[in-house]
Amino acid sequence: APRKLAAGNWKMNGDLAALDQIDAMAEAVKGASCDVLICPPALLIPAMIAKGVVAVGGQDCHAEASGAHTGDISGQMLRDAGATHVILGHSERRADHHETDETVRAKALAAHRAGLIAIICLGETGDQRDGGHTLQVIAAQLAGSVPEGATAANTVIAYEPVWAIGTGRTPTIPQIAEVHARLRADLSDRLSDGAEVSLLYGGSVKGANAAEIFAIPHVDGALVGGASLKAADFLPIVAALD
Ligand code: 13P
Repeated sequence: APRKLAAGNWKMNGDLAALDQIDAMAEAVKGASCDVLICPPALLIPAMIAKGVVAVGGQDCHAEASGAHTGDISGQMLRDAGATHVILGHSERRADHHETDETVRAKALAAHRAGLIAIICLGETGDQRDGGHTLQVIAAQLAGSVPEGATAANTVIAYEPVWAIGTGRTPTIPQIAEVHARLRADLSDRLSDGAEVSLLYGGSVKGANAAEIFAIPHVDGALVGGASLKAADFLPIVAALD
């Protein structure tokens, strides 16, 4: 079965004082059978790793290992700092930094070369859903963003409908089920171990809706934004997956 993963994406939030939240997670996370990951702003990665409580990942990496790319961070650098994962192709990066499927694919290759697990994000906009294009959009994003050499050991897919991020709105259970079944089918067609790739749902996940979302076939965990910032909000989600 795919590994279960409760992942937090702190986005551009958090400071050294916020690491207290990691201390507050320690006991609950220690006994958890699912993987627990937090992806904080890059500057907090070393201090968060030093806590030794959760796995720690980046929120982006460059497609090159090093070079003249002012302001960027490479997968090698994340790995060198002790990170194990990196989120790639989040819709906020696709929007704010014009990342395309091709960009995301190149970054995922770089992440794999660096020994990181790439959490590749995809999801439709509200207009695309309203237009009836959801499955077509996510299938194209999957085909375009997942590189050669992807395996269940180095790749996680996160389905994050853009209209559900930070809005308190979530798709219906059948809507999530439909997308995850399609992702599983396409991955199984393409990768020899596609049945084992962890598939996360993301977008307004909270303690109150986590259990029903985790009960959906082919949902192996969550990528959580706002509700990952505070231990009191994140731990019930971890418990629902565990
Ligand atoms: P929210 O959980 O705040 O909706 O954010 C989801 C997300 O974008 C995680 O990557």
